[in-house]
Amino acid sequence: MIDILVLGSGPAGYTAAIYGSRAGRNVHLITGPQRGGQLTITSTVENYPGFADPIGGLELMEQMHQQAINNGVTIVEDVVEKVNFSNKPFQCFGSKLYEARTIVIATGASAKWLGIPGEEEYRGRGVSACATCDGFFFRNRHVAVIGGGNTAVEEALYLTNFAAKVTLIHRRDTLRAENILQRRLKENSKVSVIWNTKTLEVCGDEQKVTHLKLINSENVPSELAVDGVFVAIGHQPATSIFKNELELDENGYIKAQDTKTSVPGIFAAGDACAPRYKQAVVAAAAGCVAALEADEFLAVHE
Ligand code: NAP
Repeated sequence: MIDILVLGSGPAGYTAAIYGSRAGRNVHLITGPQRGGQLTITSTVENYPGFADPIGGLELMEQMHQQAINNGVTIVEDVVEKVNFSNKPFQCFGSKLYEARTIVIATGASAKWLGIPGEEEYRGRGVSACATCDGFFFRNRHVAVIGGGNTAVEEALYLTNFAAKVTLIHRRDTLRAENILQRRLKENSKVSVIWNTKTLEVCGDEQKVTHLKLINSENVPSELAVDGVFVAIGHQPATSIFKNELELDENGYIKAQDTKTSVPGIFAAGDACAPRYKQAVVAAAAGCVAALEADEFLAVHE
């Protein structure tokens, strides 16, 4: 019998697995479709503590993977497609059935992308979905942010710490973001907003982004010279298989209090339940909390 079954192999999942195993529990971690999660598509990580020099996202996740193995975690390359949390032991169905006494869900989330030409081609070379991760590379440059919600406005404001100019491009004439954020945006002299406009294409010189092709609601095309573009149109949590088993919020994030979900014995950590911060270090910390909670749950029910 598996004591703690961890679903997901980002920082939350690996940290939960390492802590669970070091607590003496039989821990299995199921990697999901992309072993290492979102960080594996991030070029460099400069803000994860413990690495004085920048470390590649893939390399950081490989370190966590090896650390989990070294600590006795059984890692399984599989994708869970269905779960049943109504009975004990809990059941997860992948290429085979996994039964466990507790589960830590760390399936993460992924940024939504526009799906326009150039966006994928220039990802990591001027196109990003994370200002906290990549804003630093745009010191004294002109960057665009696409979106009109809290994330877009927060990203735009954050980028003013580095960039010389930030242009927010929104497809409508009103922002969805909270009033206080809108006010801060308006008051910031580095920010300008292009309203009622869609981005059609990200263009570059093969090395880096140079400009965007835009079109407004009156079908007038234009071009905007930029050094970078941050897509901030929301994230999608990887939680669809849990929707009939756990309480989710209106955006699909798992509702959890100190990692405890609506089902005792099922814990959640990282971006699948926390849309606010989206940082590896925050996910790792939550993974630790989830493992400690799972260990205590097992001790109480032994
Ligand atoms: P969001 O609220 O869903 O906003 C997404 C924005 O992107 C909207 O303005 C939307 O335009 C735009 N958009 C969506 N698809 C687009 C497309 N294909 N092309 C162009 N624009 C597109 O997402 P979010 O800002 O990431 O926030 C998600 C949740 O987290 C929200 O509940 C938010 O309040 C919360 N959050 C809270 C905080 C905070 O409390 N400080 C910070 C970040 C996020 P339309 O407006 O036209 O639909």
